[in-house]
Amino acid sequence: MIKIQNFINGRYMDPVGGEHLDNYEPAKGRVYSTIPRSGAEDVKLAADAAKAAFPEWSSMRLEKRSKILYRLSELIDQNLDRLAEAESRDNGKPLWLAKEVDIPRARDNFRFFATAIQHFASESHRTSDTIINYTTRKPIGVAGCISPWNLPLYLFSWKVAPALAAGNTVVAKPSEVTPMTAYLLGELCNEAGMPAGVFNIVHGLGAEVGNAMVEHPDIPMISFTGGTVTGATIARTAAPMFKKLSLELGGKNPNIIFDDCDFDKAIATSLNSSFANQGQICLCGSRMYIQRGIYERFRDEFVRRVSEFKVGDPMDENNRMGALVSQPHFEKVKSYIQLAQEEGGRILTGGEEVKLSGEFANGWFLRPTVIEGLHEQCRTNQEEIFGPVVTLQPFDTEEEAIALANSTTYGLAATVWTENVRRAHRVADQLKSGIVWVNCWLVRDLRTPFGGVKSSGVGREGGWEALRFFTEPKNICIKFD
Ligand code: NAD
Repeated sequence: MIKIQNFINGRYMDPVGGEHLDNYEPAKGRVYSTIPRSGAEDVKLAADAAKAAFPEWSSMRLEKRSKILYRLSELIDQNLDRLAEAESRDNGKPLWLAKEVDIPRARDNFRFFATAIQHFASESHRTSDTIINYTTRKPIGVAGCISPWNLPLYLFSWKVAPALAAGNTVVAKPSEVTPMTAYLLGELCNEAGMPAGVFNIVHGLGAEVGNAMVEHPDIPMISFTGGTVTGATIARTAAPMFKKLSLELGGKNPNIIFDDCDFDKAIATSLNSSFANQGQICLCGSRMYIQRGIYERFRDEFVRRVSEFKVGDPMDENNRMGALVSQPHFEKVKSYIQLAQEEGGRILTGGEEVKLSGEFANGWFLRPTVIEGLHEQCRTNQEEIFGPVVTLQPFDTEEEAIALANSTTYGLAATVWTENVRRAHRVADQLKSGIVWVNCWLVRDLRTPFGGVKSSGVGREGGWEALRFFTEPKNICIKFD
């Protein structure tokens, strides 16, 4: 049984209170490791270490800081297979996906911000011949980074890398559901030469250790990715302390398919955008709106191909989908499939558990599910399910498609399929969404602003946006006549 520990001040250690939680392997439905059930005392240890490490780290020559982060990215690369296996086992995602997407992206996050910080600059405004303003951007102090379970190391490093690159020290908390790769990262930080206390990892429950981070007076900024309800709780706690907040929250993303689309490409990519990572990506399109001219043809071909998906052992590269992340989440997704039927939806494929034998008999496997016949205002179409479940709905006009797409409280990402370039621009412009992909999905350039509007969040990650979040601007105005 692997015993996960906190990583504080450059050392692995047990939680102060000595309590541990069970950590499950989703494909087998059984406990395979324990994780610390940390609390406020552990957060204090981590925050103290981070505070003590801040003067040296924030004033370190940029090239040196950058080199340590770059070295960490190289070490992630060297350990890619080991980290991918750990991620797949801990999360239930296919090993091939962890190898192709999760771990390479964690590597890229550190590499990107290690180099980006060397190009980061602040502004200067010449007001008149005798007045100039210049803005400095300094690191703030200890950054609190809290991440979810769906892309564990990928999203953890997406916050930690810019926070560190900007010169802050960090107290970070991975999801208690998928703590393994963050645990393994600690030893790589030491190997990369990161000074003790710069990067601290505290494990445990959100309401306990996460909340202690948000309440801690020495952690003045919180970068959070997770559910919308949790984001609201964090905002309530942090607001009276005037903390800087970045909130990346849930989504209910539309995938709009016009009848002038490239049919084959739209089908192939929609299979991915609906079901990649068992549909557990905040950017997955869960509401598919298909123009009436191609509705039946698209639906039949989509359903035919979804029904051929292989679901099972995440380590078997022939399987397109693995297990859902936890039993509570598995039960939640199944309850939405039940709800969809009560709301009048027809299941076209899927809707049931996948029963495997042997060591996978208790795994949380679900067939990818496609539902039609629901109204856009029903709960199935309004609430985030975050699993392998999509709904199909026909539409007639461009205006109708835009209204349907904008009909939820969320606004994270949207996908549009059309070969008409004017329509592409028109529709993209009117979608209430932080990100729009046209004729593609999940094409990521780490320089672009990433985040949502409405209930999908506040603030943006990525590129300069992240480096601006993790620094404090000060404007200095000088009159020199
Ligand atoms: P969650 O909100 O339950 O947990 C996210 C993290 O917050 C975990 O580490 C958890 O322990 C912690 N947490 C929980 N309660 C807390 C509290 N009171 N104070 C501080 N921390 C607390 O979310 P989840 O179930 O892990 O992840 C799924 C959700 O994340 C989905 O809604 C999904 O859309 C969203 N998500 C959003 C993005 C994005 O970029 N917008 C990316 C991935 C996932």
